[in-house]
Amino acid sequence: MQRDEQIFDLILEEQDRQIHGLELIASENFVSDQVMEAAGSVLTNKYAEGYPGRRYYGGCEVVDVIEQLAIDRAKALFGAEYANVQPHSGSQANASVYHAFLKPGDKILGFDLSHGGHLTHGSPVNFSGRLYVPVFYGVEKETGRLDYDKIQEIAEREKPKMIIAGASAYSRDMDFERFRKIADSVGAFLFADISHPAGLIAKGLMNDPIPHCHVVTTTTHKTLRGPRGGLILMGKDFENPFGIKTPKGETRMMSSLLDAAVFPGNQGGPLEHIIAAKAVAFGEALSDEFFQYAMQIRKNAKAMAEAFVKRGYDIISGGTDNHMMLIDLRNKNISGKEAENALVKAEITVNKNMVPFDDKSPFVTSGIRVGTAAITTRGLVEADMETIVDFIDRVVVDHTNEELLEQIADEVNDMMSERPIFVF
Ligand code: PLP
Repeated sequence: MQRDEQIFDLILEEQDRQIHGLELIASENFVSDQVMEAAGSVLTNKYAEGYPGRRYYGGCEVVDVIEQLAIDRAKALFGAEYANVQPHSGSQANASVYHAFLKPGDKILGFDLSHGGHLTHGSPVNFSGRLYVPVFYGVEKETGRLDYDKIQEIAEREKPKMIIAGASAYSRDMDFERFRKIADSVGAFLFADISHPAGLIAKGLMNDPIPHCHVVTTTTHKTLRGPRGGLILMGKDFENPFGIKTPKGETRMMSSLLDAAVFPGNQGGPLEHIIAAKAVAFGEALSDEFFQYAMQIRKNAKAMAEAFVKRGYDIISGGTDNHMMLIDLRNKNISGKEAENALVKAEITVNKNMVPFDDKSPFVTSGIRVGTAAITTRGLVEADMETIVDFIDRVVVDHTNEELLEQIADEVNDMMSERPIFVF
């Protein structure tokens, strides 16, 4: 068959964009050659419904070993007793948790999307807000931080069946121990979604949810630097609290309910090429080099936040404990959308983002979210953060000056073009 030049030319174009530009989207990263190789391997040809040792298809001897390695490495990385590596995405991992722990119509308490939460934490446009009854907690206007006494009050008033601790745009650490006390006080399950800081948590650089939460999910492609995908973990398996029995009258454990919620509950055949890539990424994340990488992500984020503050930018909560920050641009007279569009012309990729108490729509927004996981993979260090913030500031201040945007794009290209895509 003829090579599909149309698609492969576009892939090369995208590769060029990634190499020459500055990638500051907080949820993105660059995978290693090994992760890429596994993701693009013959394993994509294999059907393997079920789990290692109990499949609905023949020929699964090899993928069984691969999937078991992925499970074992995920458990070792997070100190967990249970891991399910099959969710195709973070959203599917979360859907499976809802499916295992709740019934449609149950009440959930999640982080407000407009304050930093995720769509799958109860947004009305998502399954989580349509099938379940969502109530929300958010950050305080004055501090940009969570107030746990307020979350306790909301939990007591609303009596949710499940509380979700986790965010897409919150730059501070979370107190999972306190969340557990709140959950226990109202008889709720505690579910942590650590999609963003997972790589930092795995290396002990941020609070660990595993000892405190009933269940934990993460994406595998952000700070964890694996292929796009999802992962479900439990620190300790426990007997299901719903009294569900097998046909033989045995009680089922949560691990069994979670496995069933992923397959056949939410998905069909697992993506074994992606599971192999996850296994490779977990292996990398278990290494000492990954600890250095995770430390550098955080150092870079801190240096970047300080450089922004020095130039009069309003960082929500005043700084960062992790790999990202949310910048309120209202004092700079530019919307998130305008900033995102102008920055793209300068070959700097960020995403527009609602800020807490935003008066603009999600399509316009008052802010941008930036993160350092991807640029750290490319080998940038603290001193480079000053240069990047200078690029961004020049764009924001004069965002309609096309000549200037082109000139900054050239400077960005000079900075990035010679750097391999994966250094750290
Ligand atoms: N949970 C959180 C906190 C996220 O930030 C994201 C993705 O941005 C997801 C879940 C969903 O992940 P996916 O895009 O893989 O469905």
